[in-house]
Amino acid sequence: MSAVPVELSAPIARPPLWLPAAAAKFADAPAADILAWAVDTFGSDLSVACSMQDGVLVDLAVQADPGVEVVFLDTGFHFGETLTTARRLKARYDLNLVTLRPGAGADSYDVDGTDACCAARKVAPLERHLAGRAAWVTGLRRAESPTRAAAGTVEWDASRRMVKINPIVGWSDDDVARYIADHDIIVNPLRDKGYDSIGCAPCTGPGSGRDGRWAGSGRLECGLHLVSRGG
Ligand code: SF4
Repeated sequence: MSAVPVELSAPIARPPLWLPAAAAKFADAPAADILAWAVDTFGSDLSVACSMQDGVLVDLAVQADPGVEVVFLDTGFHFGETLTTARRLKARYDLNLVTLRPGAGADSYDVDGTDACCAARKVAPLERHLAGRAAWVTGLRRAESPTRAAAGTVEWDASRRMVKINPIVGWSDDDVARYIADHDIIVNPLRDKGYDSIGCAPCTGPGSGRDGRWAGSGRLECGLHLVSRGG
């Protein structure tokens, strides 16, 4: 697949003029092609976010660039299984893993509420880190939640003023399961205990889709993916 011509200067203040063409070109492209283009286009200005739910996105990303930066948000409240999954992924792929942690005294769900806790322990550390990047890659999928139903493969993340790339956005749950089986992908053991979506221990229970996240609160997102796609 030929490359979309890109003029890059990071950070990008406005949606780049080439973005609509790239979004159209890669709308239904294989994840490997999208990641190859992302690595070729953004080089070291690219970060891949991984929730340590499974290694699907990591496996795809390191095929495009074995040294690609993978970012994990260690909120301080993760399940032991999630931290073990991070260690296993780092060992298997000799991963360029960057673990981001909140500062001392960061807001906490039990004292300050979940909005403040997610803002301090997820959103702020990621935004500090991404401030020096031009693009980030996520494992977001449209099938996960109604809040993600309109996501595309290549988007403008207006709130962070950077390009957001979602290579497996069109994958179904069956697509993920097939890739895991075919490639012997590392999976967080909680997945086998009925946790379809895995966040922090105090806010996650078993459930299908994202039903187990902040159950009973009506909340579906932590804020990482609540972005305007406008300019
Ligand atoms: S998911 Fe819960 S524990 Fe984790 S950062 Fe958000 S509010 Fe805090």
